[in-house]
Amino acid sequence: MQHARILWRDQQPYSQDFNDIYYSTAGGPAESEYVFLKHNHLPQRWQHAKRFIIGETGFGTGLNFLVTVDHWLRTSRADACLVYFSVENFPLCKTDLARLWSTWPHYTTVANELLANWPGAVPGMHHICMQNNRVVLCLMLGDVSSMLPEMQSRADAWYLDGFAPQRNPQMWTRQVMQAIADNSHAQTSFSTYTSASHVMHNLQAAGFAVNKVAGFAHKRNMLCGQMQSNQLARADVAPWFALPKITTLADKVAVIGAGLAGVTTAWRLAQQGVAVDLFDSAGEYAQAASGNPCGVLYPRVSTEFAADTAFYSSAFFFTLRKLAALQQTYPDLAWQQTGVIQLLTSARLQKYYAQLTDDNDVVRRLTADAANCVSGIALNQQALFYSQAGWLSPRQLCAVLLHDAGQQLHQYFNTAITRLELCAGQWQLHTAAQQCYAGYAAVVVATAENISQYAPTNWLGVQPARGQISYLAATAESGKLTCPVCYDGYILPALAHSHVVGASFVPSSVSCELELAEHAQNISGLRQAIPALTELADYSVSSVANGRAAVRAVTSDHLPLVGAVPDRDFY
Ligand code: SAM
Repeated sequence: MQHARILWRDQQPYSQDFNDIYYSTAGGPAESEYVFLKHNHLPQRWQHAKRFIIGETGFGTGLNFLVTVDHWLRTSRADACLVYFSVENFPLCKTDLARLWSTWPHYTTVANELLANWPGAVPGMHHICMQNNRVVLCLMLGDVSSMLPEMQSRADAWYLDGFAPQRNPQMWTRQVMQAIADNSHAQTSFSTYTSASHVMHNLQAAGFAVNKVAGFAHKRNMLCGQMQSNQLARADVAPWFALPKITTLADKVAVIGAGLAGVTTAWRLAQQGVAVDLFDSAGEYAQAASGNPCGVLYPRVSTEFAADTAFYSSAFFFTLRKLAALQQTYPDLAWQQTGVIQLLTSARLQKYYAQLTDDNDVVRRLTADAANCVSGIALNQQALFYSQAGWLSPRQLCAVLLHDAGQQLHQYFNTAITRLELCAGQWQLHTAAQQCYAGYAAVVVATAENISQYAPTNWLGVQPARGQISYLAATAESGKLTCPVCYDGYILPALAHSHVVGASFVPSSVSCELELAEHAQNISGLRQAIPALTELADYSVSSVANGRAAVRAVTSDHLPLVGAVPDRDFY
């Protein structure tokens, strides 16, 4: 993904790629208020709403966003949340944004918060929670035609703000307008500064009633209008891609499984005002795979843009933002943002290294010398370095999240849910001891391989695979390691004079007993990856201080399984 190439004219940004201005030279904020707020009847329409969703084509300088948030914070309910989706394929770089935003002091607070959380030119969907969760910016970085179908939401109002249609036709096509209609409901409104007739026709063909009204400043006309409910036709989406559109928030949700997945889900729901009951058969949170002392956090990269890498990189940046915010409230949270080194142990990574350019915001290349310098030990090989990545204790993170979730969250430990039942539109959870918990609008099953014990999810083919980590006593040399090094396995910097080295992978096994053979496997993996380190340490199985074994959940394609559980009989 390329950054926008900007020329500065009288302190105003000008797009070299499209030969066009980002906003009216007659006054950006005033144009934004007139075209987008006034002609979508904002703020009036959101005054009593608990949630209001805006969609925008073209985030550009973020001016519309800043103007909208400014009004939102002053005129909406104190407990309401603005969700602002905006698609952008040529994001401005941070330096250009900072330069421009410094010229609008009125928006400084929000602009600074956004700058601190700016993901950079990383394709994918980035959820940026701001202003104490009163605003969520969903930045969809990618081409409009591929990103809008991913939105899967229904906006209350649309800001159509591509560059001028003759210079930027891709933003105004019939297909784009249909995707906008697909992400609309019967009361959805839109406005745009242009009055181009083919834009008007494309909007009408997608089901909008369109009005031509007086434009801003020197512009004679602009368009605005509303979805005609009888025209709300959905584009043909294969049923397995058509996610349910969530229009209301559930009141009460059950989450089964108090590992990282369950705890983070429960925390996010609780933060949004949903009452959450969290269940686990263990006596405490994070007792299974999430109970390992340390976990490495870094994204998966690939040479081609792919849905999974886009997902992982936006998840990575989302997590970084959340960890930074949590650390402010919980300074004890030991998030070690040391960077992470990845050795080039596969053809895929070698190819990636060869093609990597210097403007990448996520990862950079290290020469063998640089790798030694960054890691503090003799790696003696080229590597990738994720400077913003790091490591932490998943268990400690769970503890912090559970605390942070507050009163909305109730925890039920030593409570094994054995059966789920849907009664009159609400879920009931049953235990073997005939206890029943009822009244849930939704159930989140976050029980790793135990997902197979519930009827709605037992056919998903999730398999167990045991993994064992080994604790190796640090030596003078290994103690100098500054950051995690990942290869087919991984080694973490010494904590209390001991390294965590992982991890074995034993498909179909659910045993949590420690196995000497798997310690040997971890050591030989380390020896192969970093010969200098293991020669010095001369590790043998008998020198392994201890370890931990737990069971992972594995899907057939090794990708995460997330979303609404499909109705198997229907499919
Ligand atoms: N709303 C913006 C603001 O408040 O500053 C101004 C948007 S500017 C007029 C149009 C934006 O559309 C540019 O930032 C441009 O990079 C983006 N754009 C152009 N073609 C695109 C495409 N095919 N997909 C996504 N974004 C695109």
